[in-house]
Amino acid sequence: MLELIDFYKILNARFGFLNWWPAGSREEIIVGAILTQQASWKNVEKAIQNLKKANVISVEKLAKLNLKKLEKLVRPSGFYRQKAKRLKTFMNYVYENYQTLDNFFNKNTEELREELLKLNGVGKETADSIILYAAEKPIFVIDAYTRRIIERVYGLKMDYSELQGFIQSKIEKNTILYKDFHAQFVELGKENCKTKPLCEGCPLNVFCSFYSSKNSSKNYKR
Ligand code: SF4
Repeated sequence: MLELIDFYKILNARFGFLNWWPAGSREEIIVGAILTQQASWKNVEKAIQNLKKANVISVEKLAKLNLKKLEKLVRPSGFYRQKAKRLKTFMNYVYENYQTLDNFFNKNTEELREELLKLNGVGKETADSIILYAAEKPIFVIDAYTRRIIERVYGLKMDYSELQGFIQSKIEKNTILYKDFHAQFVELGKENCKTKPLCEGCPLNVFCSFYSSKNSSKNYKR
């Protein structure tokens, strides 16, 4: 079985260090993590541009911004009423209870995660993205690409928490590694391990259960 750290090294050698998350500030990362739910990143970027032009990407400004105005600004990201409300809930919560992100993030990962998960519209993936990329604490983010790739390579089907535990038990807890490894999963998911996978050019194909079973059934048919 391919060790996970070697799995990471193979992807990193292929795609290079990906330097995620593409954002200028922690507030922008949080905005992106909330707006990206059920949306393409291209549309999220349009909404972020609107927020930047309006100069409202800060905890205090977003907490004080009129909801209707916020809806208009985030409209390109889709489900804009729901997302504007979620963004307001998040920023209001931080502003009213902690004033600043520094104060909010100044707790251990478990406490922070527990608190994030209580906020409306913040699920495990969003919470973990905020913890890893904005608070810069080591927790592994699981998304649909990660699940699909692990399932195909190792033949392991796990839910969010099981898969997160599995990955975290196999590699050292390191924020930079976790950030880049998650980005590598996303890159492979977009480049090769799509719904219909492009296995021939995939750097993991010699280790992949899905690929080898596909090939052996091809050989069997011959
Ligand atoms: S070999 Fe194919 S199925 Fe396996 S990880 Fe690569 S693209 Fe996905």
